[in-house]
Amino acid sequence: IVPIRSGDGREGKATEAVLVSFVDLTQQRRVEQMRVDFIANASHELRTPLASLSGFIETLQGPAKNDVAARERFLKIMGEQARRMSRLIDDLLSLSRIELNAHLMPEAEVDLGAVVGHVSDTLSPLGRERGVEIAVLNQAGRVSVRGDRDELIRLFENLVENAMKYGGSGGRVEISITREGGDVLVGVRDFGPGIAPEHVPRLTERFYRVDTAHSREQGGTGLGLAIVKHIVARHRGRLGIDSTPGEGATFSVRLAGEFHTDEKSDMGTAA
Ligand code: ADP
Repeated sequence: IVPIRSGDGREGKATEAVLVSFVDLTQQRRVEQMRVDFIANASHELRTPLASLSGFIETLQGPAKNDVAARERFLKIMGEQARRMSRLIDDLLSLSRIELNAHLMPEAEVDLGAVVGHVSDTLSPLGRERGVEIAVLNQAGRVSVRGDRDELIRLFENLVENAMKYGGSGGRVEISITREGGDVLVGVRDFGPGIAPEHVPRLTERFYRVDTAHSREQGGTGLGLAIVKHIVARHRGRLGIDSTPGEGATFSVRLAGEFHTDEKSDMGTAA
């Protein structure tokens, strides 16, 4: 408090305040750098198939103009490149939509067993094509979680697709549902080559891949696990990654569960 004298000579007191604001510049710079890197990476990922498309268009207009066999081959590759771009754009849009709603906790009651069953039914035909069997082991009975059904489907689809892509051919993918206290744990396990420990902490970074060529060959965008991480965070869950190189990998998602022991559903299952 400091004394003051007004224009007419009267004395008074005023409070002198200093506003100090601390801004963590390191954190701000890190976020800015991540944004710049993300745009650079996304542009690069889009430019690669685009460059390939432009190359094929030029070849088809010039040297391969009258080569029917080459035309067929090139058009097939061009179709694949266009699909790759479209997958990437879909993933980029999903990621930004989930991030935009990150602060909103989705509240619908979602039957987790039904979500996992849906994912298994959807991906089993693809699995059969690749000689991979998908097995669901539910040890938690009927359990629901608070969330967004479509996002939860997307989350487990991404994990199961990865297990099929990187789990080696002729393999098996196990989806387990177990109860741990008030939580439900969904584990997606494969028996492939696994992941070396130094890569594990970085797997959920956007565009991080252990082997970029292999990921692209498998139709990967490098955004699958980043999407998984954001969906899990929005559901206030936890993502765990365990791997023993040479023996496979398990990606597990822990969520707060609501466990139902109603007889109706037990009878339904028995029938
Ligand atoms: P991608 O589109 O490349 O599959 P993801 O974000 O889904 O991108 O995964 C990132 C990387 O993590 C993959 O490129 C792969 O190297 C590694 N990965 C993911 N799942 C597995 C798994 N089940 N086994 C081994 N490596 C995996």
